Order: sequence, then C-alpha cells, then structure tokens
Amino acid sequence: MSRKQKKMLIRIIIAAVLMVGLNFVPAEGAVRFLLYLVPYFVIGYDILIKALKGIRNRQVFDENFLMAVATVGALVLAVTGDGDYTEAIAVMLFYQVGEWFQSYAVGKSRRNISELMDIRPDYANVERDGKLERIDPDEVETGSVIVVQPGEKVPIDGVIVSGQSSLNTSALTGESLPRDAKEGDEIISGCINMTGVLKIRTTKEFGESTVSKILDLVENASSRKSKSEDFISRFARVYTPAVCCSALALALLPPLIRMFGMGLDAQWSTWLYRALTFLVISCPCALVISIPLSFFAGIGGASREGVLVKGSNYLENLSKTDCIVFDKTGTLTRGVFEVNAIHHSTMEDERLIEYAALAESASSHPISKSLQNAYGREIDRTRVKDIQEISGNGVTAKVDGREVAVGNTKLMRRLGVTYMDCHQPGTIIHMAVDGEYAGHIVISDVIKPGAKEAVAALKKAGIRKTVMLTGDAGAVGEQVASELGIDEVHCELLPGDKVAKVEELLKQKSPKSKLAFAGDGINDAPVLSRADIGIAMGAMGSDAAIEAADVVLMDDDPMKIAKAIRISSKCIRIVHENIVFALGIKFICLILGAVGIANMWLAIFADVGVMIIAVLNAIRALFVSKL
Ligand code: ADP
Ligand code: MG
Repeated sequence: MSRKQKKMLIRIIIAAVLMVGLNFVPAEGAVRFLLYLVPYFVIGYDILIKALKGIRNRQVFDENFLMAVATVGALVLAVTGDGDYTEAIAVMLFYQVGEWFQSYAVGKSRRNISELMDIRPDYANVERDGKLERIDPDEVETGSVIVVQPGEKVPIDGVIVSGQSSLNTSALTGESLPRDAKEGDEIISGCINMTGVLKIRTTKEFGESTVSKILDLVENASSRKSKSEDFISRFARVYTPAVCCSALALALLPPLIRMFGMGLDAQWSTWLYRALTFLVISCPCALVISIPLSFFAGIGGASREGVLVKGSNYLENLSKTDCIVFDKTGTLTRGVFEVNAIHHSTMEDERLIEYAALAESASSHPISKSLQNAYGREIDRTRVKDIQEISGNGVTAKVDGREVAVGNTKLMRRLGVTYMDCHQPGTIIHMAVDGEYAGHIVISDVIKPGAKEAVAALKKAGIRKTVMLTGDAGAVGEQVASELGIDEVHCELLPGDKVAKVEELLKQKSPKSKLAFAGDGINDAPVLSRADIGIAMGAMGSDAAIEAADVVLMDDDPMKIAKAIRISSKCIRIVHENIVFALGIKFICLILGAVGIANMWLAIFADVGVMIIAVLNAIRALFVSKL
C-alpha cells in the first residue's frame, strides 16, 4: 500500500466512525448540521476541491462534479428536514471506498507486471586487476568482457567466451526449463545465470540489448489505445453532460408539470432527491477504469508467457484474426541448415564450402549462418571484397580476387550461368566462380519441434486459414506445408512478391476479420508492417523485424501465436463482459432511480459494487490458462 492509499484508508475509517457515532448524539438544528460537516469534509474535501477546479478550468462534467452536486444536494435536503445527513456522507464515503479499491487494484497489477518483467539488470561485473568491479551496465562498451556469476542476471547481450552454465530464461520466454549454455554460444540479456561463472564478450550496448528493448516495448504498450478504450473516453465525454442535464430535467420538470399542469402539490424535495439519486447512479467510473485495466492485464499476462504485445489495439486485433500467414525459414523451420551433399563441384568440396562461407560472411540470412558453420573456421574478412546481397536470390562477392556467386536458380539465371538441376530433396545452393558454374550444395532445414501442434492449436483457437509464403523452391515448400497441415502455400517468392501475396489475401478476407503475418524479419520486414498484425520471432529475428512487428515472440516458438490469440480472446471477452455488465446495471438503476424506487443508498452500493466486480474481472486477464 502506498502512503497515499494509507492516508485515504485512515480518512475512510474516521469518517465512517463519526458518521455512525453522530446518530447517537442528541444535537438538533444548526449544531447537528455543523457536527455532520466534520465527517463530510474529512472524507470529501478533495472531491470538492477537484470539482471546483474542474469548474474553473471549464471541464465541468466529471465524476467529481457529479459527486459534489449529489452530496451537497443531499445535505440541503437534510437541512430542510426531508433527508438525512448519514445518507449524504455515505454517498461520499462509498465513492471514496470505490476509488481506494481501484487505486489499490491498479497499483497491484502494475506491480505484478513489473515483477513478472523483473529483468532489468542493476549492474554489470567487469574484471580489473584480478578483482571484480560492479559498474552501471550503461557504461560497458561493446566488445568488453563481463563476468556473470551464478544467481545474477545477464545484463547485456553477448557471446560466451568461457565457462558453462544453465540459464533460466523464464522471465523472457515463459519457458520454465533451464537452458544449457557453453563457450561460443550467444546469450541474451535478461536471463538468469544459474550454475556456473560465465565470461561474456558483449556484442551490443546496454541500450541496444534485448532487455532494454523489451522494457521499452512493455512500458510504451499502454500508449497505443484500442478501439474499446477510445469508445469509452468518447462515451464519457457525451455521457456525463447528458446525465447532468437529465438530472436537472428530473428535478424541475415533474414538479412544474404537477404544479401548473395538474394543479397538484409540486413535491420539490421528492423530485430533487430522485434527481440526486439519478446523478449518483450515473457515475461512469466502473467502465472508465476497468476497460484500460483489462487491456493492461492482458498485455501483462501475455508478456509473462513470452509474448510481447506492443499495444492494446494489437491485442484487440489479434482476437479478430482469422487468417495467419507464415514465412517458412526461421518461422516454421529452425533455420539451421545442414549440408547433405555437394554435386558437380569443379573444385574440392572444402574449397567450395570455403568460398561459400567467405562470400556469405556479411549476410544475416539463416542459410549464410549455416554455411559458415559448415566451414567451421574463423572467417578472414580481408579475403572478401564487394559483397552484395540480393534478397531472395543470394549473394555475390569477390573472394581472393575471384567472382563468387552463391544462391538459388534465380541468381544463376540473373548472372547468365547455366546450372545443373538437382534431384535430391532440399534447398539447393548453386555456386558460380568467375562466371562459370561451380556446382551446388544441398542443404536441408528441419521443422521446428512443436510447429505441427502449433498449426493445429491455431485451428482450434478459431483461425480459419493458414498460409505459408517462402522464397525457397517449390518442392521444399510443398513438403513442409503438407507435413504441417498448412492450407495454402506459395513458393519461390521474392520479398516484394510476399507483400503482393499478403495484399491479395487482405483483399480476400472479410473486412471485419484481421490477417496476421508471422516471420523472422529476414527478407520479410516489409510484410510484417503491411499485415494487420505483424508477429516477429524475437530471439532469432533481426532488429528490424522487432521494430516493424506489433507482436514479438521471445523464444520463436510458433505455439506462442496460438497462446497469444487465446490471451487476446479472453481479454476482449472480459472487456465486453464489463461493458455490458456495467452499462446494464447502470441502466436498470437509472430507471429505478427516476421512478423513485431506488434510493441513494442503493445507488451508491450499485456503483461501488459494479466497479469492484468489474475491476476484479479485469484482473482475470492477467492469468492465462495452460494449453
Ligand atoms: P524464406 O521465405 O524461406 O524465408 P528467403 O526469402 O529468405 O526465404 O530466401 C529465399 C531463397 O533465396 C532461399 O531459399 C535461398 O535459395 C535464396 N537466398 C536468400 N538469401 C540467401 C543467401 N544469403 N545465401 C544463399 N541463398 C540465399
Ligand atoms: Mg525468411
């Protein structure tokens, strides 16, 4: 509990005790009035001040104004003998109880989320003269060596230069199994080192490291508003003035009609009381607070599962998704290719691989990384010049002064090199040296474990259509798609073709539903931003992809897409429940109040009760059931 919340709690208790106690004090008239003013001001002074400020700033109609008018009105009625003081104070008291509860709940869920995201490292260890020194992670330069001891968080992304350990990545990925890491492995910041001492050569600055990026994303997520939230703020702007005018009409019209129209007694105080009750009932706080809170909780629940959603609007769109388009390499397959065979080579096989690895030395494509792995030795960058990457084709470079081209049949045709077809299944990497065909390398990728289940889980979560787009050759694409149970596949696409295909699919779908694209961002960043929702693989994906995407999966597991969709559906369901529930109860109470059945007590109970239930319901979005 914060200091402010404690103070409020004390005010609530004092006012409640005084309110009840004063019933037993035998004071009359003005003395009684003055005595009751004490608990009234204790509990309500800040509301009155806020209401006055609102009037001065010409933003009259808000909850504070409603409460001030209602309670002052009730006091006036009590003075004239038609009402009772306790009621006036109770309205203010319960309103404050509701406000207190709400600030407590919001504070709690915010804290919950930051605890869940407890990944911000406070320091980094560097070794100086044989001693460990703790320094601010911001001050560590790229390429320096940091030491992470067991139990500490990895502060900056890097590569392990010595030591081995198991890592707890649960804060990042939601995955509870520890992951082993050894010398030479890449390591991302935010995981916790569990067993051994690790020395890490940093590859990024702190500000560019995974952990900083994630925290930025989460902290900024609530600034992108969903349609439901927009609806509520627009609604409140019209609603509150409308209610105030109705209350005024309720206080004036019936008595006037009775007096002049029917010649009866005006019953001013009865109608004033009803109008005040109407005002109390109409306070829209349950809606105003519970909708953003639901989204906030939904985003928090998702991040605990290793799914970063960059804004409530994306969470809302995710729940409307009925078509998902996948990239193949790195998204559904691991993107780690193994060399299966080398055919028609005009030189020694090792030489061919060496040329391939050197030419690929600057590329971040999974194929390039795999060829470099197959080469297995340190790359001497001085041997390579004039590297050019042609996306969806391959690369060309000068290696030891010779023109080397590494890529698919498109690249060979482009360079006018006659190539040999290959009948072995797999991705075929053709090579040309000095404009002459030099053979091809057959490599193959494996489907990610769980990818098939992920596609099935998506179907179960209500996705109507799954599509795979790939730049790879037809045979490979068709095979992967049929193995995974994907509905539609398009192969041999250049990055631009992928955009065109997605645009085509966008046109086909019904206007209300949304289309999501999931990719690793290598060659597909434009598609990520073109789709209604872009989902990027965070761990392997490029930085550009993480920037361009709306949703980032921390551990590249396609199953998380189904999870994200289920989280979003649950969150939206809660939002709708709250809207219907809060407005429904409001509406019923308003009618009861207008015809005089509901009194002010019922009104305040209805308001606070609805709010508490709505807030509790919103917090449910934080918890996601296991698949
Ligand atoms: P995907 O859609 O499967 O992710 P890409 O669009 O990234 O595929 O690439 C399509 C094809 O282009 C690859 O299958 C490969 O044949 C070729 N290619 C792209 N980049 C490279 C590269 N750096 N080296 C060799 N081949 C490449
Ligand atoms: Mg790709």
